[in-house]
Amino acid sequence: MNGNRGLLIGRMQPVHKGHISVILDTLKEVDELIIGIGSAEKSHTNSNPFTGGERILMLTKALREYNIDTSRYYIIPLEDIACNSLWVGHVKMLTPPFSKVYSGNSLVQQLFEEVNIPVTQPVLFNRTEYSGTEVRKRILNNENWKDLVPQSVVKVIKDIKGVERIQKLNKKEISELV
Ligand code: NAD
Repeated sequence: MNGNRGLLIGRMQPVHKGHISVILDTLKEVDELIIGIGSAEKSHTNSNPFTGGERILMLTKALREYNIDTSRYYIIPLEDIACNSLWVGHVKMLTPPFSKVYSGNSLVQQLFEEVNIPVTQPVLFNRTEYSGTEVRKRILNNENWKDLVPQSVVKVIKDIKGVERIQKLNKKEISELV
């Protein structure tokens, strides 16, 4: 029985307040929500600085900070695969059964719709600021990023020395500069 269980997938590099808003909104529509951490195997690059495990930690702490009932959600890491045409089956293998998907990503929408799983496009909240790209850019440039993510995520990023990591990953080798 798939019941009223939904799936939301995000890379969450890092978890920000837009993700929390969409999770809170979606939980008004479903009994249970599966939250897939996309590209779980990726880390230590400019666009994917955090490991799957670090993102699970951020999300777990943030959902606790917002007092979301732990019996309402499952957090599942989802590695990417080379074949888009097989991806839905890969996701289904790793997740509890679900009957609908929530995603603003057009490839994700397309792949689920092709197998007749309904997809809802969530409303975006303050997308110019609440975006992973914006948070990473501000961290890199020592601008104010802490207001864009939950307090608990600020703490995780501090504990794992995430600011130093993002700034170091962006440094070019001297050989690349000449
Ligand atoms: P994301 O973290 O950018 O966004 C996740 C979701 O959060 C979005 O769909 C959007 O609905 C919501 N969101 C983001 N900002 C918001 C805001 N300000 N307000 C409200 N909602 C907001 O992640 P994504 O790019 O959608 O993640 C898709 C994942 O699926 C990626 O990891 C991708 O690699 C994976 N994928 C893999 C394959 C494959 O392996 N072949 C195929 C398709 C997708």
